Amino acid sequence: MHAGFGESSRAEAVRRARRSDRRVFALVTALLVALLALTLLSWTTVAEEGSGGASQEMEDPADVGPPADETNVPGSGAVSERLGTQDTPTGRTALVANPLYESGRLSPLPCPVPELESQDPESMEEFLHTIADCLDQTWEAQFAKAGLEYEAPERVFWEEPGVSPCRPYPSPAGAFYCRASESIYIGLTDVVEKWNGASQSVIYASLLAHEYAHHVQGESGLLEYYHEQRQLETEEADRNSWTRRSELQANCMAGAFLGSVRVSYPLTDGDLDTLLTDAAATADRPEETAEERTHGSIDNSVSWTEQGWEEQDPGVCNTWEASEDEVY
Ligand SMILES: [Zn+2]
Repeated sequence: MHAGFGESSRAEAVRRARRSDRRVFALVTALLVALLALTLLSWTTVAEEGSGGASQEMEDPADVGPPADETNVPGSGAVSERLGTQDTPTGRTALVANPLYESGRLSPLPCPVPELESQDPESMEEFLHTIADCLDQTWEAQFAKAGLEYEAPERVFWEEPGVSPCRPYPSPAGAFYCRASESIYIGLTDVVEKWNGASQSVIYASLLAHEYAHHVQGESGLLEYYHEQRQLETEEADRNSWTRRSELQANCMAGAFLGSVRVSYPLTDGDLDTLLTDAAATADRPEETAEERTHGSIDNSVSWTEQGWEEQDPGVCNTWEASEDEVY
């Protein structure tokens, strides 16, 4: 009897357990269905926002406008066809909701940098190539995280004067990026002269990282839209307002890169001071008018650079949605 009771109680327990398993299963299924529905719903909403913005702003994707200065590029909007990557964003989406902003912190890749003798062009060349290799690895990894394609820029580390599709060099701009040739131009002795013979390597590393940031803007689709919008402005002051956002974003991204390699480079607190002093030196002067201001105030130039350095995340470099006084 006891045994019988025991048996029947076991059978009852098994039935109960099965019933409860079925209930758990039903509950889990219901939860999964709900989750799936939610995911689809949010995905649809995002997709609608994205494509709506893009079609509104890119009525004729083939028309990239005349090449004014550094950018407009045949084929810059080239769309990736590879699996596992998404299309390069276009329109305002590229500026304010670029997938790069969601890609997280830069991976701190090892970047041991050779000693720099800034007055020796060979040393400068080796130094710049080392930094450029690190920049390519860092941004390639970051673009992969964002699901975007990245192609390295060409490096033109020149000693003899020459001509780029954007402008001849040497140029008053010193180092520059030309989107039409997807190339970075730096003169091995010219750059040292322009920086009054500075010897600290971080200055040249940050200059290169800044030009790379313009390439990153190009590869992630935002440079093209920025240039289009800038061309539409009829007032110099309004064009400059666009330019400052682009330049301050480049400062921030350069800071992010340098912050990410500070351990292996290595960079000290003293180097950070040098970096921020340099950001102040390349900023607009307080007395300059809105018609002259293209790089941002001293405070803004320093703070965007420092923010990048501290967070090492392209997501903190979205200058396009910053308030006017953060980008003045
Ligand atoms: Zn720049």
